[in-house]
Amino acid sequence: MLKAHVTCGKCGSKIYDMKILKPIKDIVKSYNHKCPSCGQDLSTEFDIYI
Ligand SMILES: [Zn+2]
Repeated sequence: MLKAHVTCGKCGSKIYDMKILKPIKDIVKSYNHKCPSCGQDLSTEFDIYI
């Protein structure tokens, strides 16, 4: 099964790890484009692993 998680480009915090139900953009948007751990802007600094 496909899984994906978004990792903060600054602190490396994994902020999402579930099967893909919606676009990554929407996931990041649900966090107001900010890392919940360090507040880094996730609209530019994040990595996606699938
Ligand atoms: Zn972070």
